[in-house]
Amino acid sequence: MLYLNGKLFDGRDALPPGHALLVEEGRVRAIAPAAQFEGHAGPRFDLRGDTLLPGLIDCHVHLTMSGDGKAVTGQGSGHAALTLQALENAQASLRGGVTALRDCGGVDHVEFAVRDACNSGRFLGPHIKVSGKVICMTGGTKWKIARVADGPDEVVKAVREQIYMGCDCIKLMATGAVLHPGTDIEDAQYTEEELTAGVNEARRFRKPTAAHAIGTQGILNAARAGVTSIEHGMFMTDETVRLMLERGIFLVPTLAAIEHVLLNPDAVSPVSLAKAQRVAQRHRESVGMYYRAGGRIAMGADTGTLCNPHGENAQELRYMVACGMSPRDALAGATSVAADLLRLPDRGTLKEGQIADLLIVSGDPLSDIERVADRRNHRLVIKDGRVVGGPESELPA
Ligand SMILES: [Zn+2]
Repeated sequence: MLYLNGKLFDGRDALPPGHALLVEEGRVRAIAPAAQFEGHAGPRFDLRGDTLLPGLIDCHVHLTMSGDGKAVTGQGSGHAALTLQALENAQASLRGGVTALRDCGGVDHVEFAVRDACNSGRFLGPHIKVSGKVICMTGGTKWKIARVADGPDEVVKAVREQIYMGCDCIKLMATGAVLHPGTDIEDAQYTEEELTAGVNEARRFRKPTAAHAIGTQGILNAARAGVTSIEHGMFMTDETVRLMLERGIFLVPTLAAIEHVLLNPDAVSPVSLAKAQRVAQRHRESVGMYYRAGGRIAMGADTGTLCNPHGENAQELRYMVACGMSPRDALAGATSVAADLLRLPDRGTLKEGQIADLLIVSGDPLSDIERVADRRNHRLVIKDGRVVGGPESELPA
């Protein structure tokens, strides 16, 4: 299939006008000025001036959580039902333009089966990476579904268990949480020593580490431990920014988790609403601080949390831009930068040989982020070269 007559965003920037992209056997075969494809005998797709970009990559999803206004733990239904729900959630994400995602904390590893089903091609779905059970201290954030571990030795054991189960990365809970009752948002939970033990053990097996870190002390502990990414990062200071920059740590803001609570005050508990109201503005400022300092920011919508439904992941881009990011840098955060964080070298960019995971949207998202953030502006979602979603796909929505 030859895609032509439109704009191309290659994951980092817009290509000069007049380029076309050729997909063959699920891969990008060539990108070049359209004139070079003159003799092309195969099918053509007319972009009609619209924009072709890499499929979105969401670095922070909870496939086992519903995304409605009720539970945040993902508990409650049996494993069989939960597995099917996780598969449905993955497929909803794909139809929403997300061609790859990372699950940042599941339930009893049921989401591993969903990863294997989607990545092997047995079931339709995005490319999936999983972190397994979150690892937290006694009474820490998400302890009900976590691998609870106290002290460096136990943290090491908990990391080894996730690796044994086949995880792709490790999720460590460094602080309290906004949407988790019974923990104070800003409290540091794991010590720097415990986090360092977990990070070093993960590194021995080439697994990146993601730290849930809201308060300043927790961000510092996690950054000093050398985590790969800070998730949320709500209470940044000059010191956290400097340390994270020095260590090349990614920030995954997950703004939607808070914004969607604020947008649905009647659907959530008064406690959750009050906590979200307390942190929202500080959170936005923190993302802006790291952006202006030149930090690497990857998109993660925390999909599955309260009123944060699977398939609406792209809305995160709207909130990133509202923090001061340019549409171009927000889109890079959802494509090339996210691919770097998730270690997906053949995704997230448009170049020869890449897997043809693509999104076509109406208009120009570099001047109006809503062209991507609002999925009603999507035209087609393409996974491995195959049309899998979008209003023009003639597939069930
Ligand atoms: Zn999360």
